[in-house]
Amino acid sequence: RAKQEGKNRYRFFAPEINAQASERLFMANSLRAALDRDELKLVFQPCMDLATLEVAGVEALVRWEHPQKGTILPSRFISLAEESGLIEPIGEWVLREAARRVREWKNAGIFAGRVAVNLSPRQFRRSDLASRLLAMLDEAGLAPSDLEFEVTEGMVMEHPERAVVVLTELVEAGVSISIDDFGTGYSSLAYLKRFPVHSLKIDRSFVNGLPADRNDRSLTRAVVALAKSLGLSVVAEGVEHAGQADFLRQIGCEFAQGHYFSRPLDPAALGTFLREARVQEAHP
Ligand code: C2E
Ligand code: MG
Ligand code: MG
Ligand code: MG
Repeated sequence: RAKQEGKNRYRFFAPEINAQASERLFMANSLRAALDRDELKLVFQPCMDLATLEVAGVEALVRWEHPQKGTILPSRFISLAEESGLIEPIGEWVLREAARRVREWKNAGIFAGRVAVNLSPRQFRRSDLASRLLAMLDEAGLAPSDLEFEVTEGMVMEHPERAVVVLTELVEAGVSISIDDFGTGYSSLAYLKRFPVHSLKIDRSFVNGLPADRNDRSLTRAVVALAKSLGLSVVAEGVEHAGQADFLRQIGCEFAQGHYFSRPLDPAALGTFLREARVQEAHP
């Protein structure tokens, strides 16, 4: 009888697990095809200078425009791409495409800021990362100073010694580095001092509760103070209303991104946004 139940249970759960596994396999295969079929797109979210409300830069964010399923967000396919190794060709595509757009906006005289590109753990693990990235930039006709890479605490703390070497190579070439989702990972202050990073991006989970939440107020204040004392810029992510922007400005946070200023925009819409906004250098 117990055996019978066990069997039933097995029969009950197995299809679910199989369905999940085959959904992932199906997604991985169609993602591979999506790359070839040009179904990936980039959208760009402006990063604003909180004091002047000028556009300081933009962040490139990938989208999968699926012919049947519509827009698929990175949360649904980046980890899959990471596991399957597809993140490497996707990452290269993202960089080329971002570079192509920046060149367009520069030629049109509407953009002088930096474009930030997110790197994935797998990309960051490659020992030839810096030379490959710099070669691609060169190919795309961009200067290293046109670009910023976003890495997470987890990525740099996986092998801190190696991260210092890779980041130093990039930074010496003129690329800026920021730490994304800052505060959600584990990072050591000692290493933070040694990493040649330019800015910290305060994760939106700390911005969420501003200005009402006491803990969020303390945490954002602390990160802004930490960034300043290390001579780094600080960007708040996920700013959705004026109350958050006002508080961040008051505590000396320089830059902010979020729906309050602009959602991520397709290249045409960003062009319009840039024409209307004034543009400045992110890190003068
Ligand atoms: P992230 O780099 O921290 O990007 C910020 C995310 O917050 C974006 O989600 C953006 O659309 C969203 N966001 C911006 N403002 C607001 C706001 O006011 N409120 C809320 N609720 N959300 C806001 P998205 O585009 O879905 O990207 C999610 C994550 O996927 C990114 O987090 C990044 O880690 C990853 N990702 C995106 N594009 C790429 C890429 O090209 N390569 C790699 N490796 N990862 C990427
Ligand atoms: Mg990012
Ligand atoms: Mg991130
Ligand atoms: Mg983030």
